[in-house]
Amino acid sequence: MDCIFCKILSGNIPCKKIYEDESVLAFLDITPHTAGHTLIIPKEHHTDILDMDSELLCHIGEVSKIIFNMYKEKLDIVGMTLVQNNGYGQEVKHYHLHLVPRYKKDGLFFCHKKVTEEIDEVYKKITA
Ligand code: AMP
Repeated sequence: MDCIFCKILSGNIPCKKIYEDESVLAFLDITPHTAGHTLIIPKEHHTDILDMDSELLCHIGEVSKIIFNMYKEKLDIVGMTLVQNNGYGQEVKHYHLHLVPRYKKDGLFFCHKKVTEEIDEVYKKITA
């Protein structure tokens, strides 16, 4: 399979490793939104959350806490934004959780658009 993250896992493409255990690897994103932008990926190839079991997803959540605590100690951060694209907006089709360290006045905005006028309409659809 021609998957860039599988190639990182097999050692064919280098990465700046942050954390590794039996089921996941975390490494620095090559085009970071902020300093320390990190990706956590499962060692097994999964496309997105729909194709992963809850145990693995929970484990990735635990690892995100470990890395957040590590960066709180080592970097001058004021928070951590977690982003994870499934399908639309997902450039690499191997599950990855983005951990984006936040710095005072880092100027990073993930969402500009607000669609409050559609709340009633979408709520009707979801609950029908
Ligand atoms: P997404 O758009 O959510 O699929 O994000 C894919 C992310 O993978 C982007 O932030 C890329 O910068 C990152 N990326 C792609 N190739 C590499 C690589 N070889 N090493 C580290 N990060 C990568």
